[in-house]
Amino acid sequence: MKITTKLTLVQTAIFFSLTILIAFFTYRYVEHSFLSKEKIFLVRKLIARRIMMHLGKFADILIVEELDNGYRVIWDPFKLGEYSEGIHERDGDYFLLIQLEFNGRRFIVGKDITPTMISLRDLRRFLLLLVGIGGVLSYTLGYLIASYSLSPLRKILNQLEAITPGNLSLRITGPDSRDEVATLVARVNEMLDRVEKAYKAQERFISDVSHELRTPLASIMGYVKMLKRWGKSDPRIMEEALDSIETTSREMKELIENLLLLAKSEVEMEKEDVNLKEFLEELLEKWRKRYGREIELVVERNHVLKTSKEYLEIIMNVLIDNAVKYSDDKITVLLDDRGISVKDRGEGIPENKQREIFERFRRISKSSKGHGLGLSIAREIAEKLGYEITVKSSPGQGSEFTVVLK
Ligand code: ADP
Repeated sequence: MKITTKLTLVQTAIFFSLTILIAFFTYRYVEHSFLSKEKIFLVRKLIARRIMMHLGKFADILIVEELDNGYRVIWDPFKLGEYSEGIHERDGDYFLLIQLEFNGRRFIVGKDITPTMISLRDLRRFLLLLVGIGGVLSYTLGYLIASYSLSPLRKILNQLEAITPGNLSLRITGPDSRDEVATLVARVNEMLDRVEKAYKAQERFISDVSHELRTPLASIMGYVKMLKRWGKSDPRIMEEALDSIETTSREMKELIENLLLLAKSEVEMEKEDVNLKEFLEELLEKWRKRYGREIELVVERNHVLKTSKEYLEIIMNVLIDNAVKYSDDKITVLLDDRGISVKDRGEGIPENKQREIFERFRRISKSSKGHGLGLSIAREIAEKLGYEITVKSSPGQGSEFTVVLK
């Protein structure tokens, strides 16, 4: 059942019950006050001595004295014949009989209350009509309130339905207010931002993989053909083909791993306190051991940073890997107030290429053996962590990449 219908029903029930209650109590109140008036009238008539003395003048009042062994009818203009207390009906006429004590004697006093009963009947009919109208009004009011309160949600729903994988960049607009609906709109839009980013990352991954794997796969197939044709008879060709297949496969594996990393960089990162000096000492030791290169660590100022150690390591690995690949001299890693810099004394990067190197698949150096993905991975992760990567470089002098830790 729709919320609008539910709300309408609940509100109708509430309004309708209220109408019935009001009608019921109004009727009860009027009935009580009418009958009370009649009773008071009868009491006054009995008390007025004149009644007793000049009964003839008050011919419209019934008076019966209750005796121990029956009744003594003093005056019965209505010819009722039955004198119990209450309201008696006869041929559409109504009579009110009440019991009263007066001067130690018990009387039944009565009166024709037909006009009062007709008024009460009219009131009953009117109130019933009112309840009927109240029912219709309750439903209309309930429906209007439900529709009005849910209209912002309906608008959101319509806008959400228009968002498909083809136009994930659409966002919903909500009311210009500070209520729950505005908060909901803000949260949904934030969620859409995340979904869009993740979706785009996946899309890019798929297109990058299909584009970038074409060449190495073609090359592997070429070598396989070569193996089939000449490999069996010529061990030299077999050796060469197998080596090439192995290298190309390894490169493909690295490429896929890097692309996956890019797609994954949208995932939430777990942060912890990282002592940067200790972190760098550990990391550089690994690199020294792996490549036997001279990598010095200069610590001007150490900090403990709340960051993702795993992702910071990925950034540093890219920068150090590049310094190792594109220089032969000593590499210096500097930790200071600004952040962490990796400085090499290698071939350097021309000024006009320094922006390009952060783009995907961009390789400047002729000696590059990578896929041109390292720096774009590093930059994306850095941005996610709130850092910036700057570069200072001049050809022939060397380069300095800095992770600015803001
Ligand atoms: P890859 O190293 O895999 O080619 P990167 O994205 O890491 O990809 O780098 C992009 C390009 O930037 C490299 O191909 C290289 O030309 C240039 N580059 C990166 N780091 C350095 C460096 N330290 N010295 C000289 N050139 C560099």
